[in-house]
Amino acid sequence: MSTGGRDGTSLTRRTLLKAGGAAAGAAALGGCLSSGDGPADEPSGGEATTAFGNCWMCSHNCGQKAYVRDGSVVNLTGVDGHPRGSAGPDTEGTLCPKGLAQLDKTHDPKRIKEPHVRKNGELQKVSWDEAFQYTAQRLVEFKEQNGAETLLDATSWAETPIFSTVWRELYGTPERISRGIHVCAGPTFVTGGMMGVGSNNRVPDYQNSKYIIAWGRNQLNSFAGQFEAKGTLEAIEKNGAKLVTIDPQHTITAEKSDKWLPIKPRTDGALALAMANVIIEEELYDQEFVENYTYGFDAYREAAADMPPEEAAEITGIPADEIREVARGFAEAAPQAGISVWTGTSQMGNGWKATQNITALNGLVGNIDRPGGLRLWEYASTASFGEVCEMDYTNRAEFKEPAITKYDEYSDYPVRHITDIAHNLVPEMVDNGHINGIVVHHDDPLKDGNADAWIEAIEKMDLVLSIDAYWNGVSRNADIVLPEATQLEKDTLGTGNWSAYPNHKWITGSKAAVDPQWNTKPDFDILVGIANAMAEETGEEDWTVFQQWDDHEDFIDDQLSVLDLTLEDIDSGEVNYELVESYDYEKWKDNDNFTFRFDLDQVGSFAQAAEEAGMTTAPEWIPPGEYGDEIGGDYPLEFYDVRSVFFSHGSNQPHDRLRDQFAKRNRLDDEDYRGNYLHLNPADAEPRGIESGDMVRVESRTGSGELMAVVSERARPGFVTAEYGFGETSATPDGEGMNTMTLHDKQMDPITGQVDRHIAVEVESAGGE
Ligand code: SF4
Repeated sequence: MSTGGRDGTSLTRRTLLKAGGAAAGAAALGGCLSSGDGPADEPSGGEATTAFGNCWMCSHNCGQKAYVRDGSVVNLTGVDGHPRGSAGPDTEGTLCPKGLAQLDKTHDPKRIKEPHVRKNGELQKVSWDEAFQYTAQRLVEFKEQNGAETLLDATSWAETPIFSTVWRELYGTPERISRGIHVCAGPTFVTGGMMGVGSNNRVPDYQNSKYIIAWGRNQLNSFAGQFEAKGTLEAIEKNGAKLVTIDPQHTITAEKSDKWLPIKPRTDGALALAMANVIIEEELYDQEFVENYTYGFDAYREAAADMPPEEAAEITGIPADEIREVARGFAEAAPQAGISVWTGTSQMGNGWKATQNITALNGLVGNIDRPGGLRLWEYASTASFGEVCEMDYTNRAEFKEPAITKYDEYSDYPVRHITDIAHNLVPEMVDNGHINGIVVHHDDPLKDGNADAWIEAIEKMDLVLSIDAYWNGVSRNADIVLPEATQLEKDTLGTGNWSAYPNHKWITGSKAAVDPQWNTKPDFDILVGIANAMAEETGEEDWTVFQQWDDHEDFIDDQLSVLDLTLEDIDSGEVNYELVESYDYEKWKDNDNFTFRFDLDQVGSFAQAAEEAGMTTAPEWIPPGEYGDEIGGDYPLEFYDVRSVFFSHGSNQPHDRLRDQFAKRNRLDDEDYRGNYLHLNPADAEPRGIESGDMVRVESRTGSGELMAVVSERARPGFVTAEYGFGETSATPDGEGMNTMTLHDKQMDPITGQVDRHIAVEVESAGGE
């Protein structure tokens, strides 16, 4: 497949800001920007109507109130009392910098404005009718030539549940990238599920907590809905809660903490075991809970006995007395003690064991589903597609085995026990002919794993279909580009678990605040268009399945029917959420099937995967380098990718407002550079002759790139970091900065397939600014 240049985009820089300075300042604590701190609640210059939205910039649905004048969104604020965007009832709703940036996103001239298909090697604008018809024709040809099972569904950040209906069930591909597991926090998600507390164990019941450990998380600045930062601050203010941050970087959360433990990266598993050692030895654990509700404690006790604090001090760089102090504080506050853990301890080769050891601490102190502890959060249930669909249709993927489990080539990867394809294995599967095409929605795989190999893979594929709002590494190189409407231009329905309401299931939704801009369409309408075109092209009647709904709102209303609600009820004109059901703490007391597992030998497929990876099933210390890159020799520094309140999922880089705020946060806004920054300690910068604002070259064993240096004591000596998602393969308008994934090869956690973001590098001055 040949590639054409960027089409339809403007490279104009920073047309919108400098006005964003106020927003940057307000983003400092909690990243929250109250409506009072930001633009005025009521825009000046004539009558504006109000509507609602749900923010999807980090996918966590903070409610948005939109002020609309003449068909344009002229202002945005939060929604008071919103489960994700406020601190609970009668509290102000706000938006973080990313949420506010949707004001720009909606009307951003850099968006993809028209459908495109590749003709004679170039992407060319076509009508929607032609785009749908061409898509159906290419999908039919692809299936005849390659088989549906070689099309990869890479649409996992999708909020519309019908993506899997279209690609998996109707088209028939069993192949999917599990992006949540493989590029976000697989070890945390998977371990929580295996240990018995579910994959959502990572957010504690903040408001009722008295001891909060932010473990590898900058939760006041990079969060999953703003309730998290607000809940943490409320716990400190109202409960006198202690906040401890365990992080190699001195983050904003560390700054606000009672204690910062500047741990050496990838040694979290040793610290967790040493804390268990103290808690068990001093009999501070919840013996009643351990005895009656857990499995595998003997194996855990043995592993902890092997990690006294003095030994952990050598490994982690944290003094033994500090380890004892935090272990005691956590256990003594329990069960009102919670550990917040997510990507920081997951995105490394030994992440599976690290998160197992950390999660085990919760079972040890019995803080499971108790006030202030680790909650078993609950979702509100809406009706599934199958439940509201009145037509029969064939599940064409049902009897197809995913290639990852079918072929011997992948038997070296224990990860194959998870049926979805590990992100970093895709290029190899393309080389082997087991993947020949991809459908990507609102995402760019090139910034989440071995980028160079991914670029080659995309170029080799027979069919690349991109559904996106921006030109990025995939859409620029696609055969078909279908421009997607942004959040404020479409109806939304969201349901989540953790929130500012610890005892309520909730639901949030909104009708489109404005019409789709330019010639774009909401993702629901795009999928329906493809399905209807497939019905015509194939004559298969079940592709007409979406014709039973008048529009997306009709479909949403059907999903809400089990709650006796409609979208109109939720988007009431006052707020855009509903609390639908209450639930209690300690649900496990009435659940005979509940067991908290310290040892995972009961979980067959994972026990097999662990054995193949040479790990035990019990908590265990696995040093850095045993799985993952070794630091040393020509590559003496440890690099790891991070995210910030300005950019998440590597997808908010097109927004000038955010890039300017980010430059200001790094005190480099006077520079004509709006890429990502390499943060390094003066102890590493000085011998290399590097100062803040210098361009530096970062090189790993397999790749290299250039970005601007920020020299700061906030970074631990020996360790360097940069935010990911920039560079010429991303949606960054001028390609400034670096796609940090060019430093990566195929590193991954062998159990879950999580991309390992810790890489051995060397840094040198690039000789200019
Ligand atoms: S926390 Fe996430 S969902 Fe909430 S406003 Fe920010 S980007 Fe949007």
